[in-house]
Amino acid sequence: MSISVTSLTRALTGLKCSKYTFQFLRTTTTTHMAAPPTTTAALFLDSSSPSMEDSRRPPASVSLEEWQAWGTDSPIPTHVAEIVEEMIDLERESDAQMKFGGLGGKLKGNFKAQEDKKHRAKYKALDDSEQKLHFFSARQIACRLLGSRGYLCQKCWLPREDCMCSRVVPCDLWHRMRFWLYMHPKDFLRQNNTGKLLWQVFGINASKLCLFGIAEHEEIMWKEFMHSGRNNVWCLYPNKNAPTKSVEDSFAGYISNNLLYKPHQVICFNLSVLALHYILDIISISITLYVQTDAVETFNFILIDGTWSNSAAMFRRLKERADLIWGDDLPCISLTTGASAMHKLRPQPSWDRTCTAAAAIGLLDELHLVSQFNSLGLDKQAEAVENSVDLLLASLTARRLRMGRSINRRQRHHNDIC
Ligand SMILES: [Zn+2]
Repeated sequence: MSISVTSLTRALTGLKCSKYTFQFLRTTTTTHMAAPPTTTAALFLDSSSPSMEDSRRPPASVSLEEWQAWGTDSPIPTHVAEIVEEMIDLERESDAQMKFGGLGGKLKGNFKAQEDKKHRAKYKALDDSEQKLHFFSARQIACRLLGSRGYLCQKCWLPREDCMCSRVVPCDLWHRMRFWLYMHPKDFLRQNNTGKLLWQVFGINASKLCLFGIAEHEEIMWKEFMHSGRNNVWCLYPNKNAPTKSVEDSFAGYISNNLLYKPHQVICFNLSVLALHYILDIISISITLYVQTDAVETFNFILIDGTWSNSAAMFRRLKERADLIWGDDLPCISLTTGASAMHKLRPQPSWDRTCTAAAAIGLLDELHLVSQFNSLGLDKQAEAVENSVDLLLASLTARRLRMGRSINRRQRHHNDIC
């Protein structure tokens, strides 16, 4: 198994490891996680990586439309907008041109040296750890936004020539379920990120992007959690300080006779009843709407979308906020079988057990097996995500082939996958 993880980690085009099969990962991914970041970068670094070397046009500010096209409906985070402006100003004031290369919008050349000096000084001057995190996250995102502009497809985050969007088949997620992709800034706009697949398939309302350390995103997420209540929030993560429940433990006892009802169906029905009885009192209508909408609770599932090494800090931040708001632990669940075992019993490619999309697939599959939930089409929704993962792998592999890179390891396991 260890050999499988190591080789597949290298082979399967660097699909980012996450943390959903915990025991498995703890004992086998040392090699993977200890690998220098350049390992993944090298897999995708190519001559057509984003570069502004050939462009002499100064970069423009990021508009709301441009920001939201990357997969969010939030306003532009204030700190991100500020840093973008500062970088534009720096370019204007200095003799160096802003250049990017490689993965993740990494700055290059003389501009990088100047910007490094400036941002390090600013970071050092911040004495509050919260401010430091906000600055770190906003700068990472600002660089990625500017470095990926015009190079990556805004929907699938792949280089435009490898865009897979036309092949992704959208699917409705069960209306009472919502994923929250709590994403580390270093995973934002990564080609091999699989969390992005969730909103490609289910849409940005069913799968929400929440960037770690971006105050606006975290506020939106926690506001929703407070509205839903602690009983309707789960994080897929093993909480060492509290018992972690399986999906079955968490939902087998769930009692509800209205899982299939949609809010608008209930509301329409009640309005009809009201009309039938000639009760047009506005207060009655308001009360009916309030009660019925409130009765349709949303199940919020947090998927921590970051590397194993980053995820601990991300989880700690979630936990601290939960404690602050509810005075209680963040409810956690873990997958009992791994993502793929339930799904078509596929032989075991390691990414299938560890990537963020696979965690969502595993959750949907395990929830589907709970009797109260088995008529909601969750298995089909899991399949839709799995199909998108296949498409991503195919796109990444095709890219490697086109760049003349080896896919031997990938091919060796391809038969196992399909
Ligand atoms: Zn695309």
